[in-house]
Amino acid sequence: MATATAQTTSVDAVIVGAGFAGMYMLHRLRGLGLAAQVFEAGSGVGGTWFWNRYPGARVDIRSLEYSFSFSPELEDEWRWSERYAPQAELLRYAEHVADRFDLRRNISLNTRVTAAHYDAAAQRWDVRTDDGTTVSARYVIMATGCLSVPTDVDFAGIADFAGRIYRTSQWPHEGVDFSGQRVGIIGTGSSAIQSIPIIAAQASQLTVFQRTPNYSVPAHNGPLAPEEVADWTANRTAYRAAIKLTPGGFFNEPRETLTFDEPPEAQIAELERRWAIGGFQILGAYADMGIDPVANKVTADFAAAKIRALVEDPAVADLLTPKDYPFATKRLCVDSNYYATFNRNNVRLVDLKATPIECITPAGIRTMTKDSGGEDFSFDAIVLATGFDAMTGALDRIDIRGRDGVRLKDRWAHGPQTYLGLMVAGFPNLFTITGPGSPSVLSNMLTSIEQHVDWIADCLDHLARHQQASIEASPEAEAAWVDHVNDIASQTLYPQANSWYMGANVPGKPRQFLPYAGGVGVYREHCDGIAARGYEGFVLQSAAA
Ligand code: FAD
Ligand code: NAP
Repeated sequence: MATATAQTTSVDAVIVGAGFAGMYMLHRLRGLGLAAQVFEAGSGVGGTWFWNRYPGARVDIRSLEYSFSFSPELEDEWRWSERYAPQAELLRYAEHVADRFDLRRNISLNTRVTAAHYDAAAQRWDVRTDDGTTVSARYVIMATGCLSVPTDVDFAGIADFAGRIYRTSQWPHEGVDFSGQRVGIIGTGSSAIQSIPIIAAQASQLTVFQRTPNYSVPAHNGPLAPEEVADWTANRTAYRAAIKLTPGGFFNEPRETLTFDEPPEAQIAELERRWAIGGFQILGAYADMGIDPVANKVTADFAAAKIRALVEDPAVADLLTPKDYPFATKRLCVDSNYYATFNRNNVRLVDLKATPIECITPAGIRTMTKDSGGEDFSFDAIVLATGFDAMTGALDRIDIRGRDGVRLKDRWAHGPQTYLGLMVAGFPNLFTITGPGSPSVLSNMLTSIEQHVDWIADCLDHLARHQQASIEASPEAEAAWVDHVNDIASQTLYPQANSWYMGANVPGKPRQFLPYAGGVGVYREHCDGIAARGYEGFVLQSAAA
């Protein structure tokens, strides 16, 4: 058995990324007696919650559910302060996990993996990092994150801006004080929607540049009620077991009821009830919300009425209302005071569909209209809340070469192809945690991370017990899974939106619905069944002579 220390050049497994996925993977592999080394580009653990420190950043799944379930001791000793924990608390939790399970001794921080090449003769991967280290590993596990690579935004003139530019996803660790500043923010996705109310309360002026409005539901966040904690603690085992079988990997009381099974007044009452609870409760209201456009419109109209009620200026309310895609087909946002922020007299909304950004000037942002000259805005700071090259971005940026030197990026030139979102044909012993083709970003990611890590750990254990050196998805199984993923997606309304789920936010990225929309519970059954049938659809090989 190889050992893993800072000097090691040969390990059983390299894990890329020290977010929740990479850390739990390391813990499981250690439990199997495997030597694993984690490489993390950042200077700390925690992934998403290490990088995204913008004001208002917080989880939008209940913290009780967005947390690890694998260790009852960890659950017993950790107390969440709020229903939806803020970023700083999530980062403390990640750091606590690293310390509690003594993970840090096998995590190399400030180290980016640049390449991973498969050596078929040796049945091993050669992994290279940006500090010149080369490591030989039997297995490579990509825990690189689905939302870890910001999109490249190259507004003309951006380098000449005289003020400060901040990215929500690379926020300064010391924080930013916008007091007295004129601030412009580009983007109105989840990151912007969380940060806008807080920046608006601090800055002298905030100008929001919106290309596409998003639907957002209230979080109704607050301190975690003692009775909620008591109920969770008393029933935790049952809750955790049930969560694993839900569609989204969390509780939102999903109903079988179809929208038009109920009269209009009952529909409104049900949607009101869920709006009052807040968060993703609304998604569980009707089983046909995600598949039937007419049914979906009932919820969309309900949300639009809420926007009109919350925003005093009807013209602003109209601009904030999505019109060209069904409800929740772009990632639904969860906010604290977002819409009401537009009632402040220091906040202005600019519609980039009517007046696109022409360039960034030394003084601020210049927009243009079709017929006449643009408007110049002056800012002390600009915030880019412009999103991520989701699901494939981090993998694309590593030079991954499988059998016969085939590059993963080339293999995926027309969109990612995977078996279960876990493996790719032609890339033996390479695993992707929450990869494309798995429920991943459509779910409570902690549920999906644990499921993938456990599946991979069980798989490696199976290989060891059966004296197998490699596992690889068969091209046929992969093709069938890709068909299934596409088939399920085509039955939903998701493809109707220009979303990052579809790769639409990155110019030139192939249009393909990236995650698996069949639900966490159904997906788990697929994975468990395939493993139980001797890793059906995978080719296992013993060590080469
Ligand atoms: P990450 O946390 O993204 O960690 C991946 C790590 O890999 C990063 O630290 C990165 O630096 C590192 N890395 C990548 N490439 C390399 C490389 N080549 N070499 C070395 N290191 C590399 N999900 C939810 O379920 N609920 C939420 O409420 C929620 N809120 C979110 C809020 C924000 C602002 C964002 C951006 C995402 C949110 N997500 C949420 C999704 C979130 O990404 C997951 O919940 C989860 O944190 C992912 O963990 P991970 O370990 O898979 O990936
Ligand atoms: P996002 O949802 O992709 O939003 C990016 C925003 O920037 C969009 O409004 C987009 O407009 C706009 N934009 C991008 N490029 C632009 C350009 N060149 N010009 C003008 N506008 C541009 O990214 P995000 O807000 O960072 O969120 C990403 C995901 O992370 C979320 O969907 C969610 O899964 C997760 N997240 C969760 C939370 C949470 O509440 N817990 C918070 C933050 C993030 P278009 O829509 O027109 O492309």
